[in-house]
Amino acid sequence: MLAHMGYGTRSEIRRIVKQGAVKIGDVSVKDSGLQVDPELDMILVDGERVVYREFIYLMLNKPQGVVSATEDSRDRTVLDLLADEYGHFEPFPVGRLDKDTEGLLLLTNDGKLAHNLLSPRKHVPKTYFAEVEGAVGAADIAAFEEGVVLDDGYRTMPAKLVVLKEGDPMARTVAKIELTIMEGKFHQVKRMFQAVGKKVVYLKRISMGPLLLDEHLAEGQYRELTEDELELLK
Ligand code: URA
Repeated sequence: MLAHMGYGTRSEIRRIVKQGAVKIGDVSVKDSGLQVDPELDMILVDGERVVYREFIYLMLNKPQGVVSATEDSRDRTVLDLLADEYGHFEPFPVGRLDKDTEGLLLLTNDGKLAHNLLSPRKHVPKTYFAEVEGAVGAADIAAFEEGVVLDDGYRTMPAKLVVLKEGDPMARTVAKIELTIMEGKFHQVKRMFQAVGKKVVYLKRISMGPLLLDEHLAEGQYRELTEDELELLK
């Protein structure tokens, strides 16, 4: 249990048990193989109570240049951004963001929660902020509401496009938009704009279901979800 909670390798745990650093209540543990009930037993290491938990939920502000995978032969992954103390929980990213996409990425080892968020049947909304080359306007709002046909022939579900700034190709200014989609096809946002003849030059996810990216998180920073956030997700 202590190894699982990140207190060290099995041999390190054996050593600290031998040194008398581990107690259950007032009693020093002598046998590092002792079976414990993490919910009931008051386990202390160096006098500090061990709070057992099985699952971990981290909100990451993914930076550009890292891939949303658990391992990759070429690129750094989002797991490389995490402190070692989280490694033993074996978190994985819930869904994928492109290497050049920033923003909200949930990392967890709770497979059930991940499955619920990713299930195509649940239509969990995801909102992105994007900068787009070309003038984005009323025709695009209508097209996205209607559904656009992607390069593989797939027609997208209705999506909500909010134009924050129209963009003007003559003045070389990009459009700024927010787009909410209820599905998660490969490169979906970029391909939706491609379908209306425009190019996404910057993409950041700002929400997923009820979870909003914490604006205090700088790129590459992460934090655990609050109890309220977790409650909303479940
Ligand atoms: N849509 C994209 O095109 N890329 C992402 O990373 C996410 C959504």
